[in-house]
Amino acid sequence: MATITLTRISKSFGATRVLNDIDLDIQAGEFLTLVGPSGCGKSTLLRILAGLEEPNTGEVRIDGRTVNAVRAADRNLAMVFQSYALYPHLTVAENMMTPLRLRDLSWRERLPVAGPLLARAKHKSLRAQVEETARILEIEPLLQRKPGQLSGGQRQRVALGRAMVRKPVAFLMDEPLSNLDAALRVHMRSELAELHSDLGTTFVYVTHDQAEALTMSTRMAVMMDGDILQLDSPQAIYENPSDIRVAQFIGSPK
Ligand code: ADP
Ligand code: MG
Repeated sequence: MATITLTRISKSFGATRVLNDIDLDIQAGEFLTLVGPSGCGKSTLLRILAGLEEPNTGEVRIDGRTVNAVRAADRNLAMVFQSYALYPHLTVAENMMTPLRLRDLSWRERLPVAGPLLARAKHKSLRAQVEETARILEIEPLLQRKPGQLSGGQRQRVALGRAMVRKPVAFLMDEPLSNLDAALRVHMRSELAELHSDLGTTFVYVTHDQAEALTMSTRMAVMMDGDILQLDSPQAIYENPSDIRVAQFIGSPK
């Protein structure tokens, strides 16, 4: 079943056409990478899916609902940013609570009388959710630290954890490993693949690194000049690239 469907998405910036009528079905629970050389339109496509950019034409559907008019914050997608964007003055636990607290606040405003009582009960379950998430990510020992006391890899897990507590339809990641050094980057590949299989949530992952895409994804969409040239499993693409451009980019023997 497709969780996310993009239909005939096109986008131009001024006279420059960046996406050419892209069709893409993203299956529930898959790890889909958008992979291709720099400038081919990966980030633009992801931003359109996230609601951070408007397409010129086309439709974005999430769980069967057209969301073109739905704000980014209301699409229930978790965009994990490269810079992690953690609050430096808050602990890891507080950072992970923040999106829940914000949601809780708007919920409380709608219930002026029963609100405070319910909020206290709810707060407990928020803490439980944060603890559960920390357990899955194996960052429980870090909950009382501040972001400045964490390594790059640990900050990444916290950023993921903060996104996870909202139970999003999908995680969207744009080159999340590109700030890390080479050894950690390779280590994080297997971590992310493992995390994906633990969670079972849909991942949509942008990278220009074909090795990353080949090792982590369930399926990869190879993009070039605003088109998806081939969409298939890493093995199928590696063994049977659809044309010479895919073969050259992937480095497969065709
Ligand atoms: P990728 O993520 O694959 O490197 P992008 O989607 O970031 O590619 O960019 C695709 C093309 O669109 C590039 O030529 C880029 O310069 C251009 N582009 C992206 N965002 C904008 C923008 N906001 N304004 C103008 N041009 C843009
Ligand atoms: Mg990009």
